[in-house]
Formats: sequence, structure tokens, C-alpha cells
Amino acid sequence: MTGPLQRIVYYSKNLLTGSDEVIATNIEQILEAARVNNSKANLTGALIFNSGCFAQVIEGPRDGIAEVFERIQCDPRHTEVQVLEYGPIIKRAFPNWSMAFIGVREKDEKLFHRLALETSFDDKRLAAEDILTTMREIMLEEEIASI
Ligand code: FAD
Repeated sequence: MTGPLQRIVYYSKNLLTGSDEVIATNIEQILEAARVNNSKANLTGALIFNSGCFAQVIEGPRDGIAEVFERIQCDPRHTEVQVLEYGPIIKRAFPNWSMAFIGVREKDEKLFHRLALETSFDDKRLAAEDILTTMREIMLEEEIASI
């Protein structure tokens, strides 16, 4: 994949239904495909999920992002995909993650609540920044915890 380094941040409404177990299996399938495909396309990023919505950051070569985002937008497992930010970046925020996953953890719920409800994603730039910062903080915490 070629092109300058870009980043996309989007938000979407979840259409997955069923028990927690069924949803977890579905998310696992999404992550499996994402990790295989993203590694091949030199893409990195992170995905947040709670029962109502997804938010995702994908970064990498422009062509790779365009291709994957085309597929993501057509995916019947979510809807109302809203791009919050798309543009060039100097360096990656998630260089070590083909697709990091941040599910619902009690201590993150407050953060997610603030992101999803208080901002209502009205100010797209602010919402994108909020999502990115929150994801980075959580992933850094995880990396430190696993040392
Ligand atoms: P497969 O995974 O084999 O899928 C083949 C087709 O079946 C695709 O059209 C797929 O959309 C559809 N499909 C597969 N499983 C289901 C299911 N359980 N229900 C309904 N349809 C299904 N893909 C990436 O490559 N990178 C990402 O970062 C990424 N992020 C995603 C984030 C979200 C929130 C969602 C919902 C999906 C994401 N995907 C991502 C998946 C993406 O939409 C495509 O499904 C995937 O890229 C196709 O991979 P594949 O070609 O290996 O086909």
C-alpha cells in the first residue's frame, strides 16, 4: 500500500444483537479479520466498543485506509458511520497495534460516557481528539501494565 501517512477517526452505531457471549464472538471475528488485513496493509489503530456504538482510529498509507474504510462502511454489523477526522499525520498514535481493542471496562465507562453523551460528537474535531487521547491513554496503561 502506498501514499502518505493518514489517519481516520470515525464513530458508528452498533447493530450487533444477542447475548454478551454472542456479541463478544462477533467482536472477536471483526478483530481477527481486522488484524490480518491491517497487518498486510501496514495499517494500525484501535477500536472502542460499547453496547451502543463503535469508535475507531485507523492510521497508515492513504490507499490502505481508503480500501479498508470502503469495506467497513458497507459492513452490516454497524450503521450511521460518521467520520470525525480524516487527514495527514506525521506519526502513528498506535504503532504497535494492528488493531487494539478497548471493550467496556468499568473504569473506562465514565470516559466513554463522556465521549459519547456529553460531546454528542457535535464538534467533530474535539470528539476525534477526545477519542484519540482516551484510546492512547488506555493503551499506554495496558502497555505499562504488561511490562
Ligand atoms: P471476511 O471477514 O471473511 O468477511 C467476508 C464478508 O462477510 C465481508 O463482506 C464481511 O463484511 C461479511 N461478514 C463477515 N462476518 C460477518 C458477520 N458476522 N455478519 C455480517 N457480515 C459478516 N476490517 C479490516 O480489515 N480492518 C479494520 O480495521 C476493520 N475494522 C472494523 C470495525 C468495525 C466496527 C466493523 C463493524 C468492521 C470492521 N472490519 C475491519 C471488518 C470489515 O468491515 C470487513 O468485514 C473485513 O475487512 C472483511 O474482511 P475479509 O475480506 O477478510 O472477509
